[in-house]
Amino acid sequence: MTHPTTHRRQSALLNVGALLLMTAALTGCALSSHQAQTTSMGRAVSGDQMVALASQPGQVRLTRVVAADWAVDRAGLINLDHPEAQAAGLEDGLEDIQIYFYALEHPTHGPFMIDTGVARVFETPDEAPVSWLVAAAMNTDALHIHTDTARWLEDKSLAGVLMTHLHLDHVMGLPDIPKDVPIYTGPGESQDSSFKNMFVQGTTDRLLDGFGALQQWSFEADPSGRFEGVLDLFGDGQVFAIHAPGHTPGSTAYLVRTPTGPELIVGDASHTDWGWSHGVEPGSFSVDVPQSARSLAQLRALEQALPGLTVHLGHQHHGQTHALHIH
Ligand SMILES: [Zn+2]
Repeated sequence: MTHPTTHRRQSALLNVGALLLMTAALTGCALSSHQAQTTSMGRAVSGDQMVALASQPGQVRLTRVVAADWAVDRAGLINLDHPEAQAAGLEDGLEDIQIYFYALEHPTHGPFMIDTGVARVFETPDEAPVSWLVAAAMNTDALHIHTDTARWLEDKSLAGVLMTHLHLDHVMGLPDIPKDVPIYTGPGESQDSSFKNMFVQGTTDRLLDGFGALQQWSFEADPSGRFEGVLDLFGDGQVFAIHAPGHTPGSTAYLVRTPTGPELIVGDASHTDWGWSHGVEPGSFSVDVPQSARSLAQLRALEQALPGLTVHLGHQHHGQTHALHIH
């Protein structure tokens, strides 16, 4: 267990204070003004159909890559007002987290990434395509990169990127990805209107600059009522997109059938292992906390329905509860 330094804690609190002060008078703003359209990729299926298929081994290989270590405010990651969080005595402070991306190898449709990792340019913060205000608010001083996306991509020809959502810590790898690679995301994701976006829109747009229109999933109501919507992405029952709105409107989880069993990437439906294990939704980083609580409950029910499911959380290893600092 490591403890953040007092300096880091003070600078993070100053940053948040400065950001709040400067945003107080501002109104909503879209997350990105980048062009978006609906993709025809994916076939709507029911949650029950997905569960039945996912109980059988699949053919897709999935690798999780730790792109970076990072530390951010716990109150953003966990709803500290939740009775469970109160009962546990959780308080705000810096929480150690990681930034991941996933390599998805489909036998015929080629390699995809889920989320984008961190681009090489972020190794030299002065050159990073992030405004100083965003860098300060994001606590980028605490970002320690292990693997940049360029290094990982070297000999690969990407077929596409499946986004869990478009928050900055998930699109920071875009500068290393060829501009002709399609970027898939949930419905209404870039139109998410929040006062915080006044500051990140310019940065998000810069990272998306040169890419084609965002390809948004077309979810339909899940007849089994398990989820807001489920798509079989390749029509062969191997990879599923699950609409899990709340953290952002288009937040999407992915269920992947591998030879050794199903794996679920929940994105920031739960950043932390504590939140997942206790059923406590994310806090101030989410646009709609009650809705994110419903999505979290739906995804946790999948863990019950699929014994042997491997769960990948947004920013911590599943089973890493000990890393949460309780003061
Ligand atoms: Zn995140």
